[in-house]
Amino acid sequence: MLKTCTLIIIIIIIIDSICRLCKQFDETVEHIISACPILAEEQYIKRHDRVCAQLHFNICKKIGVKLDKEHWYVYVPQSVKTCHAGKVSISWNQQSGTDRTIPSNKPDIVIRDNRKGTCVLKDAAVPGDRNVIKKEAEKF
Ligand SMILES: [Zn+2]
Repeated sequence: MLKTCTLIIIIIIIIDSICRLCKQFDETVEHIISACPILAEEQYIKRHDRVCAQLHFNICKKIGVKLDKEHWYVYVPQSVKTCHAGKVSISWNQQSGTDRTIPSNKPDIVIRDNRKGTCVLKDAAVPGDRNVIKKEAEKF
């Protein structure tokens, strides 16, 4: 390394660590990524829906549903898509009929195969590291 007479001094002064959006919690990386109540109202939902849209896109491609977009990042899922002459359907964010009351009764994706008589529910979450176990428990 070439010695020079330049001295770089970096001083970081934390004056206020409170989140500039919610003004309730410390503005940490984890708070911004997954715990800010202001960002939860819209931004976290958008992120969740984009993750599910990619999942929906990949499932549709795999089972042979004709898609109007070539790339997942411009794809917007329709509420219901069908293939194989209507014998397989994929629903997006639709309420499911249940025999008992379930508060959040809208699985992200439901794959219904009438030929086999099967139904697969997929519900995603994008939790922060601290909330993974809690979210897993909620989803099951
Ligand atoms: Zn905040």
